[in-house]
Amino acid sequence: MPLILALDQGTTSSRSLLFDEKGSLLGMAQKEFKQYYPQPGWVEHDAHEIWESQFATLAEVLAKARVDTHNIAAIGITNQRETTVVWNKITGEPIGPAIVWQDRRTASFCDELRLQGKALLLQQKTGLILDAYFSATKLKWILDKVPGAREQAAAGQLAFGTIDSWLIYKLTKGAVHATDVSNASRTLLFNIHTLQWDPELLELFDIPLSVLPMVLPSSGIVGDCTIIPGARIPIAGVAGDQQAALFGQLCTEEGMVKNTYGTGCFMLMNTGQQAIASQRQLLTTVAWQIDGKTTYALEGSVFIGGAVVQWLRDELKVIHSAPDIEKLAASVKSTDGVYVVPAFTGLGAPHWSAHARGAVFGITRGTNHAHIARAALESIAYQSADLLHAMQADAQIQIRELRVDGGATANDMLMQFQADTLNCKVVRPIITETTAMGAAFLAGLGAGIWKDQQELAAHWKTARVFEPQLPEDARAQLVKGWQRAVKAAIAWADDR
Ligand code: ADP
Repeated sequence: MPLILALDQGTTSSRSLLFDEKGSLLGMAQKEFKQYYPQPGWVEHDAHEIWESQFATLAEVLAKARVDTHNIAAIGITNQRETTVVWNKITGEPIGPAIVWQDRRTASFCDELRLQGKALLLQQKTGLILDAYFSATKLKWILDKVPGAREQAAAGQLAFGTIDSWLIYKLTKGAVHATDVSNASRTLLFNIHTLQWDPELLELFDIPLSVLPMVLPSSGIVGDCTIIPGARIPIAGVAGDQQAALFGQLCTEEGMVKNTYGTGCFMLMNTGQQAIASQRQLLTTVAWQIDGKTTYALEGSVFIGGAVVQWLRDELKVIHSAPDIEKLAASVKSTDGVYVVPAFTGLGAPHWSAHARGAVFGITRGTNHAHIARAALESIAYQSADLLHAMQADAQIQIRELRVDGGATANDMLMQFQADTLNCKVVRPIITETTAMGAAFLAGLGAGIWKDQQELAAHWKTARVFEPQLPEDARAQLVKGWQRAVKAAIAWADDR
């Protein structure tokens, strides 16, 4: 039976998962690696540690599942996006630490570009917002600041890659320097319409073309993994984590949406063959390219999702563990008009207020910790609903269901409330490892284990559907209260 190995390289840990041809999960191994914070606002990884942790989990999952490596028909890769590595092509050694997506060191350079009026050009070409988050300014920083980097680059000796490229390079023992379209579309250097590195943007960021990887489809043979003794396994699927999750949820038709409820929430809508320019500061991104067909997505995120539950646990100390929130929240019938706006680090789309801070509204003499816990939990759903409404408005698409994954989807109360606030079905699949599943699906398609996307449908199964149950007027009243709370939180921040 052919097996697929999915490598899921995340921000805090590397994981390897083994799937069979029915899409069943046979085994998993996970290893954390170190985060470096050398200065305020800086976040770095050691590319060696990323590779070593990834390889260790790969070896562990194969050993635990006792599989013959000859049965592994394909490898899929999914990864933390935007994180930037530069290595020397001759020695294979990184020339410095990897700069992680969260790193803010290039924020002031982004401000300069904004003052020069470059934001619109960048949005039109890349679908992204001009921000330090994306790879281009990180790559420029490395080339400018690492001694000798510009000279080595000019001599054609350097390679840039996001983490997928770095893993591909290591897995193929340096034979392949490539990335896929979904990862390329997070660099601020890639034109999502022409699907090529954009010469004007390379000039803007002063990036030589010679350092950039070849851009390949998300599904199809990239090269052979030759690092596992005695085996030669095709790497046949690659996508950034959120795009992989969209595929893993089989949101393969236009208008399908997934939301991941982790520390933050990440929502993506498949917009088919159209790259829709957002009027509401959502990102436009390549979802994947398969068989020559490019699919686009709109993307938005909630900064504080499950993190608000961690706040209740670690700071307010009203629960011992995250799952406890369900019981505490259920101990009251409603929030009694209390709203928590968890704008701890500002508010993202569609509100965009960097200065907003958290607030609790509607407190009365009878308000207790359970009301606040319930309101905090509900805030995850309200923020996600705001995001979805922005997406629907940008895309002019009304969705029929929301597919969900991530740690906080274990919370039935939250999922029901999400269905109620959206007035649409919320669907939770059996396998919630959707990111790895997406990488496995892309690789299995790329290696010919599955014939086409229709065949995958049999391998994605619903665990539970949450149907909206709230009458329209009750829903409208709740949502109105939330909107007032957000407005008030922003007004408080603006009146400085
Ligand atoms: P990440 O990938 O961002 O680390 P996970 O998908 O592992 O996140 O989900 C962890 C998040 O989900 C945490 O923020 C945690 O507070 C939240 N969480 C976990 N279980 C529950 C639960 N039962 N109810 C609500 N939130 C939960």
